[in-house]
Parts: sequence; C-alpha cells; structure tokens
Amino acid sequence: MEISENIKKYKSELPENVKLVAISKTKPNEDLLEAYRAGQRVFGENKIQEMTDKQEELPADIEWHMVGHVQRNKVKYMAPFVSLIHAVDSLKLLKEINKRAKQNERTINCLLQIKIAEEDSKFGISKEDAVNILDSEEYSKMDHVKIVGLMGMATFTEDEDQIRSEFKFLKKVFDELSETYPELTELSMGMSGDYKIAVECGSTMVRIGSSIFGARNYN
Ligand SMILES: *Cc1c(COP(=O)(O)O)cnc(C)c1O
Repeated sequence: MEISENIKKYKSELPENVKLVAISKTKPNEDLLEAYRAGQRVFGENKIQEMTDKQEELPADIEWHMVGHVQRNKVKYMAPFVSLIHAVDSLKLLKEINKRAKQNERTINCLLQIKIAEEDSKFGISKEDAVNILDSEEYSKMDHVKIVGLMGMATFTEDEDQIRSEFKFLKKVFDELSETYPELTELSMGMSGDYKIAVECGSTMVRIGSSIFGARNYN
C-alpha cells in the first residue's frame, strides 16, 4: 500500500482520542511529504541530527516528536522546535531541556519513559524514579519543561499475552500517577506490531513507522 493510503487507514481506524505519530526515521523527505499531503502533521524521529535536518526542509506546521534516547549535548539543536520528547529518563536530562527551552523562550513538553520490557537493552525508569522526579524540588523550579505523560516500549516478542501484560502494567502506573499529577494526560505506547493491543490497554499516542513507510534499511 502507498504511504498516503496507510495514513488514511490509520486515521480512520484509530479512536479519536489516540494520536498517530508517524515514525519517519531513515526515510527520505519525499516520503514524509507524501504523508503530509495525506493530512499527517505529527512526525517522530529517533536521532536529533536527522530530525533537525528534516525540520529545516519540510513544512513549518509539522509537529516534531523525539522518540529516541536523548543525548544531553544534542538537546540544544532540537530545542527551537521540538514539540514533545518521549523518552526522558533523568532529572539531569530534564534540567538540560529546561535550560535550552528557556534560551528559546519556549516550554517543552516531555514524557517519562517507564521500563516495562524484560530486555535489558530497553531504556526507562521505574515508577518510583518517576515519582522522585515529579516530586523533586528541582523539577518544581523548572519553568520551561512540562511532564505531560508517560511512554513505554513492550518486549519485542510474538507473545501477545506478555505484551498485553506489559502495557497493562504501564497503564496502571499511568492511572496511579495521574491521580496525584493530573497534568499527566498522555500515554505513549504501541508501535507497528503491537499498537492494537496498546490501544486496547489505554494508549493515547501510537508511534507507527514501518507499517506506514515500509521496512527500514539501515545500510
Ligand atoms: C522506530 C520506533 C518506533 C516505530 O517502530 P515500527 O515498528 O517501525 O512501527 C516507535 N517507537 C520508537 C521509540 C522507535 O524508535
């Protein structure tokens, strides 16, 4: 199927309260433009340099999300335009985002990445770590970052029961935290292979790449 058809398919299939983030990493600008012309405005990338290059070339009304692990020394490059950073995992990183957002006279929305997968390779923090960040005096003094929700990545497996239990766990953490912190409204979970389960489990934001743009070639 063509990119534009895929966008239309997801837009009609996803519930209204679930936002589609089109993950365009490794894909050329012409592919993003095809999605754009089909009405897609929210794109996600996992490398700051690549996102910045694309942002310079593509229409200004695109909402750019950083979904990958963030290196602190590169935050400054995306601070002028990034609209949501999905994978924040430390107070140190938040502090840097706050500093760079301030320099750009902006407030940058962030999600805390919670570790839900079994694999050691996946990043993320525990619920307790998240509470410590939200409760910290340092965070309370940051006027240019706002934690608006949580993000998680399930284990890469065929075992749907395992994926479901990981997403359910994240939803439970989200419900518990958002009771205390009502500004937490976004729950970013679900990718091409598992978005249906994620939506069933309460996702508000799915990050879909290969089933929109086709398989990625990293060579
Ligand atoms: C690449 C990526 C996705 C999209 O993965 P697909 O399986 O291609 O849909 C989603 N989230 C993150 C964090 C990614 O790095």
